[in-house]
Amino acid sequence: MNDSKNKLTPEQYDVCFRQGTEPPGTGKYLHHKEAGTYHCVNCGNVLFSSETKFDSDMGWPAFWKAADPKNITLSEDRSFGMIRTKVECANCGAHLGHVFDDGPAEHGGQHFCVNSLSMEFRKK
Ligand SMILES: [Zn+2]
Repeated sequence: MNDSKNKLTPEQYDVCFRQGTEPPGTGKYLHHKEAGTYHCVNCGNVLFSSETKFDSDMGWPAFWKAADPKNITLSEDRSFGMIRTKVECANCGAHLGHVFDDGPAEHGGQHFCVNSLSMEFRKK
């Protein structure tokens, strides 16, 4: 794992490597609308495109598709008494968020629910 904790803020480190979650409704990318790509805040791996971002009512940035399925890792998460699918950066292992199946049906129904703290936006 490329664990570059010195570069991340304590809040970013907590989400990326201690399975933390930013408080809902607080993320800087929640209502972000610019065109561009969202990258892993730790290693720069491209994760999501602004073209697949949508508004969910859960309080975190939402995407219906990964930029490239190879760039993320999905695995079962049984923490907090729930069975969920967690999403991690395939390159460095940083925790990004979870994926749910309540996304827009016309785009396949996936809903990637991602912490703003795990991502860095780059303008197109
Ligand atoms: Zn990464």
